[in-house]
Amino acid sequence: KEKTLAMIKPDGFSGNYMDKIRKVILESGFDIIREMMVRLDAGKVTQFYAEHSKKSFFPSLVEYMTSGPVLIMVLEKPNAISDWRALIGPTDSRKAKVSHPNSIRAMCGLDSAKNCVHGSDSPQSAAREISFFFEDIVPG
Ligand code: ATP
Repeated sequence: KEKTLAMIKPDGFSGNYMDKIRKVILESGFDIIREMMVRLDAGKVTQFYAEHSKKSFFPSLVEYMTSGPVLIMVLEKPNAISDWRALIGPTDSRKAKVSHPNSIRAMCGLDSAKNCVHGSDSPQSAAREISFFFEDIVPG
């Protein structure tokens, strides 16, 4: 089995999509092995999204990600990383609504910035992101 890091971002959290998202996760065969509600500060967001720190949208990304609580989850199933990315759909939720109408971003996202969920994009980022939030989990 493989583990991935999923996050329900502030817009998913405040929009009361939590129960729907959880249902889709479980119906899609993932086990939620850990979860934790946190309020990220700018420092944490900057560390987490370090690869985007030079992008023009970075300040608005920090503002968005610190605007309310998020739910961090470790999901487990065979092929969890790419299956979760497929389930959430494309980064731009407007595109998701057209090309992936059954995806989670089509359900609860707004655009390419406010896209309601996150998923690790590779085994390397899954390992990094899981240990970023859950120090006791050995990724793999
Ligand atoms: P995530 O890493 O959150 O799962 P992703 O891998 O689909 O999303 P990335 O390209 O890694 O997308 O971007 C990280 C996050 O930065 C996006 O989820 C979104 O919230 C924000 N973002 C990406 N592109 C833009 C943009 N053009 N304008 C504003 N915000 C953006």
